[in-house]
Amino acid sequence: MSRFWSQVARDLTPYVPGEQPKIANLIKLNTNENPFPPSPKVLAAIRAELGDDAAGLRLYPDPNADRLKGAIARRHGLTPQQVFVGNGSDEVLAHVFMALLKHDAPILFPDITYSFYPVYCSLYGVDYRTLPLTDDFSIDPDDYCGPRNGGIIFPNPNAPTGRPLALDAIEKILAANPDSLVVIDEAYVDFGGETAIGLVGRHDNLLVVHTFSKSRSLAGLRVGFAVGQPPLIEALERVKNSFNSYPLDRLALAGAAAAMEDEAYFEQCCRAVIATRDTLASRLAGLGFAVIPSAANFIFVRHPQHDAAELAKALRERNIIVRHFKLPRIEQFLRITVGTDDECKALTDALERITG
Ligand SMILES: *Cc1c(COP(=O)(O)O)cnc(C)c1O
Repeated sequence: MSRFWSQVARDLTPYVPGEQPKIANLIKLNTNENPFPPSPKVLAAIRAELGDDAAGLRLYPDPNADRLKGAIARRHGLTPQQVFVGNGSDEVLAHVFMALLKHDAPILFPDITYSFYPVYCSLYGVDYRTLPLTDDFSIDPDDYCGPRNGGIIFPNPNAPTGRPLALDAIEKILAANPDSLVVIDEAYVDFGGETAIGLVGRHDNLLVVHTFSKSRSLAGLRVGFAVGQPPLIEALERVKNSFNSYPLDRLALAGAAAAMEDEAYFEQCCRAVIATRDTLASRLAGLGFAVIPSAANFIFVRHPQHDAAELAKALRERNIIVRHFKLPRIEQFLRITVGTDDECKALTDALERITG
């Protein structure tokens, strides 16, 4: 704190991302990155964009990201006017809070969910109310079909639980809230959830947010997008163009478009992650863990006899890092990212020794 801080800076409680330690030979299962490299076409596209002397970098990138929006629109059967892109879906979400969720009634989200949502609320002065997940950590759609609200947001599958919500439940929430925006954060949908993108044409109150960080292996490139009907996209463009005209650099625009166009590679990686997840889940269940059924690239587990913080510490001593949230209801859980087969085997071997 210093006398130079604005009142805004004083009042913030920033989000704390999972750590990115600079340690060699670490088995890093804490921030839901993809264990596979991005499509080889991403590297080719970035190389082509750079050329021999990187002279293209003299020039600003396309502020409208037309090629990338076109690639996203084609893949999802949309028009480019239904697509907004940003520097990671976190930035997209930030603009959503300011452009579309700041109203005079509280927005609704689950008590156990992506912990960036309350941070954006505090940054932009958005009032919110959390609704408890059920005892088995499901979202009950009926909870969202009554209270007056200024908007609704949750991930599907939810994070950090990994539990998916069926599309008919989402349609029920959309129908019950015709005057509220419903934001579905589909960061993990490609690992087994059902996307709500197909509902965008029928519901003017639906916005679906995606990221290239998880299923497209591009967390380091920082690209995310939102899809919805054009008036929603226009509101996001207004905020973006009042903040940063060029949130995506030339390399990110080229790389992300190439990743979106390589459907075969994408599907192959998602299938591999899903297969490894299912093996990991059954091995952990075999070690006595309670495993929440996951449709994401992580699993959320608890051991009835071992304290979660102790387990995380013991794993860390063996150079394996997982995520532990010291939060109500979930402090006895660990969130474990699905790594390669070898990484997951090393994890379960270590846990067998620790818990055995
Ligand atoms: C990872 C994640 C994001 C953010 O992704 P970026 O595109 O890397 O900013 C958004 N929402 C949820 C639920 C996530 O888990």
